[in-house]
Amino acid sequence: MKNSSTPAQTRRTFVRNMTLGAAYLGSGAAGSLAAELAEATKGGERKLGVALMGLGLYSLGELAPALTHTKLCRLAGVVTGSHAKGVAWSKKYGYPEKYIYNYGNLDEMASNPDIDIVYVVTPNTLHAEHVINVATKAGKHVICEKPMASSVADCNAMIAACEKARVKLSVGYRLKFDPYHIELDRIARERDFGTLTNITGAFSWTFGERAWRIEKPLSGGGPLMDVGIYVIQAACRAAMSQPVAITAIGRPKTKPELFNSVEEAIDWTMEFPGGVTSKASTSYAENAEFFRAEGEKGWLYMSPAYSYRGLQMETSRGQLRDPTVHQQSLQMDDFASCILTGRQTPVPGEMGRDHMKIIEAIYKSAASGGARVLV
Ligand code: NAD
Repeated sequence: MKNSSTPAQTRRTFVRNMTLGAAYLGSGAAGSLAAELAEATKGGERKLGVALMGLGLYSLGELAPALTHTKLCRLAGVVTGSHAKGVAWSKKYGYPEKYIYNYGNLDEMASNPDIDIVYVVTPNTLHAEHVINVATKAGKHVICEKPMASSVADCNAMIAACEKARVKLSVGYRLKFDPYHIELDRIARERDFGTLTNITGAFSWTFGERAWRIEKPLSGGGPLMDVGIYVIQAACRAAMSQPVAITAIGRPKTKPELFNSVEEAIDWTMEFPGGVTSKASTSYAENAEFFRAEGEKGWLYMSPAYSYRGLQMETSRGQLRDPTVHQQSLQMDDFASCILTGRQTPVPGEMGRDHMKIIEAIYKSAASGGARVLV
């Protein structure tokens, strides 16, 4: 009689057996679950195939390299407006040229069994159309870069399309998988520093070239959409909730000719249930990157707080050691694990929509000169 852990056990059987366990383990056990699944996928069975849509800087510099480290998924194809770029990438990453798609032939991807996930890495306002096309035409699971879209209405349409097509949707929130931010979650959950009394944060970088990032029709907004969203995410994690109200003020523009359709810098305050407030800022006219949360019994400070690597965290108890992780590999492996096990992603479209509600409220308050806007 065969032992249940025999090497002859197929990935399919293993995945079915793990599904029950996953229901008990939940997303907190993603690391160990991923490791067990990685073990199960040894011996010839394929990893899940990811197609990157939009071969710009983030795909080139971070996501494609990350997919050479992932255990449960790999780069299996691309969606690009430049076939020549797709061919050059295929030589580097080893996917067949027939797996180079463009924005107009996603329906052809539907019959490709080697692609399971499409990762949308295009300008912000195109995310909605691209995610909906992936779900409805290709029928593939989707990861959508942040910000999820440029309006709550678009987020709703994306969530509905993915539900209807029975595909999973996650947002590219890589910091959900960063050890320091996971420690922030623990501190918040266990009230390690008592009730939080004050939250502050900033994420800004000097950006001053004519590019889609400062063209509202493609960006949806300025630095708030681009990097301010990270401060929103961290503050919501610290407070473990959505804010109830927001006030915001745009700063005077130092380069009005450049920032003629989006904000150059903006400051905002979020009021959370229970009374803690978070003061935050984001700008394209300076460099800043920190997050601080203070409680009755202690504090934590991160800087850099939102980068791909090299984050630092100090608390009132001392410096934390610097764990080296690859955020994007962990993020994509976790999504692959969700697909393999049926587990919910910890970064679903609903989370992207929550943050978009906050962004809409910030812009509404700033447009009215700082009125208090309920979220
Ligand atoms: P990019 O300009 O370098 O790349 C954008 C890609 O989209 C290009 O390949 C471009 O050809 C393609 N594209 C498709 N249709 C287009 C159109 N109509 N107009 C312009 N470009 C079009 O930008 P990026 O820095 O790679 O950012 C892409 C997305 O990834 C953005 O949503 C951004 O917020 C997000 N991003 C996330 C992170 C992160 O840490 N999670 C980091 C960087 C970028």
